[in-house]
Amino acid sequence: MSINKQLESNGVVIAKLDDLLNWARLSSMWPMSFGIACCAIEMMGSMAATYDLDRFGVFPRPSPRQSDVMIIAGTVTFKMADRIRRLYEQMPDPKYVISMGSCANCGGPYWQHGYHVVKGVDRIIPVDIYVQGCPPRPEALIGAFLELQKKIETEHIIGDKLQPKQA
Ligand code: SF4
Repeated sequence: MSINKQLESNGVVIAKLDDLLNWARLSSMWPMSFGIACCAIEMMGSMAATYDLDRFGVFPRPSPRQSDVMIIAGTVTFKMADRIRRLYEQMPDPKYVISMGSCANCGGPYWQHGYHVVKGVDRIIPVDIYVQGCPPRPEALIGAFLELQKKIETEHIIGDKLQPKQA
């Protein structure tokens, strides 16, 4: 990143405030710690010692008010949909959603006959990154965070250019 290059050359940093804030935000993404079904096991594996998402600054937080990323890891039933939307609305802006696995993406194995399953979490909250698989491996979730970092890097949060998203 340009900030690092300037720091290496002469110890002086000259950067746009947008770049500096984006660098801080993409280096400290805090997902809310909750899982809905079997994909959550892979999500937990990503946080554990072997894959160690901590090295990207990704720390799970126990409250939506301290989180800026929501990972939908599992099957979204209609019973859960209202709770998920309420938790999402309690998160401060700017906030991001990773849809992890086929169930969250489109209903997965319940797509045809699962009368109780929402056919895609993007019907209730806006999704930034989709991760395919049933379940996706931890590497895929790490890849999703790297994609999210790229997205955050291009955003403008000065002057209200970053607008709240709609589902
Ligand atoms: S996508 Fe597969 S592994 Fe993930 S919650 Fe659905 S059934 Fe379970």
